[in-house]
Amino acid sequence: MNDGFDLRGKRVFVAGHRGMVGSAIVRRLAREDCEIVTISREELDLLDQAGVRRFMADRRPDAVVLAAAKVGGILANDRFPVDFLQDNLIMQTNVIDSAFRAEVGKLLFLGSSCIYPKLAAQPIPEDALLTGPLEPTNEWYAIAKIAGLKLCQAYRRQHGVDYISAMPSNLYGPGDNFDLDSSHVIPALMRKAHEARLSGGSSLEVWGSGEPMREFLHVDDAADALIYLLKNYSGDSHVNVGTGEDITIAELARTIISVVGGDTHVSFDRTKPDGTPRKRMDVSRLFGKGWRPRISLRNGLAQTYEWFVRHVEKGHVRLGVA
Ligand code: GDP
Repeated sequence: MNDGFDLRGKRVFVAGHRGMVGSAIVRRLAREDCEIVTISREELDLLDQAGVRRFMADRRPDAVVLAAAKVGGILANDRFPVDFLQDNLIMQTNVIDSAFRAEVGKLLFLGSSCIYPKLAAQPIPEDALLTGPLEPTNEWYAIAKIAGLKLCQAYRRQHGVDYISAMPSNLYGPGDNFDLDSSHVIPALMRKAHEARLSGGSSLEVWGSGEPMREFLHVDDAADALIYLLKNYSGDSHVNVGTGEDITIAELARTIISVVGGDTHVSFDRTKPDGTPRKRMDVSRLFGKGWRPRISLRNGLAQTYEWFVRHVEKGHVRLGVA
């Protein structure tokens, strides 16, 4: 199979275009000479199989980027296991199956680094998949994502279509969910640091020990890598998408405080879970294809904080809606 996919003149459906990743993909695709197809949640519920089949048959995209998913941080995953497992399984299966029925030749499925075993060797290569037990706090989401990437492999094998998968590390950036109960760590700590500064230099409460390490990728870099893969990758294996560098949660908290400002100190709530100790990804397959990230963590955090102040804090975006 030829690795190149020319986007010029193509119709590309982005499923999940209102989410943080989907909206970044739409921004990135706007620089390509292609037609972008989106549909709002009110018009099409991706859980509705008949509706998704009708939509796909009607719009007949040339390519699909599947960025729609029920996502959330460590506590949300733990509290809503049915939503994370079932909704994701149904949504992704509806989109992949309907795409095939509508003769879509190219599809990119998005997963996450949580598909890997909790205690995988670092950095984690793609073939560490299914070599050990998952991290229990997000296994619901992980199982759904593993099923999605396997379904793409199965379609390649059985039907010869070019369906590929990418597994990004922890993403952050404009459009993130800043709701403290359901968000990931960066928006949570950014909002808490902001509120601490406004209330006059109190403490920033960090969940867990602060010792876990995470690899963070700005969503615009992620979108750039994903479109790069859409255009340049065609293979059976999923591909890790990240920077290949990670930091401790304690260090992240200190960096966020320095971006947000204020005389805030860090405290740790050890009653909250740490999750996986470390999940730095081996990104040699992606880097070997010639892609590199451009946005440093500090610059990305500063830009995200600006977005937060303009949108969320001023009430232009409702909290809890990613
Ligand atoms: P994970 O990578 O799936 O564990 O997703 P998260 O972004 O939710 O959490 C990453 C790490 O940050 C975990 O070790 C959390 O315990 C830690 N963390 C520290 N403070 C917070 C917080 O306020 N919210 C969240 N979501 N995580 C936090």
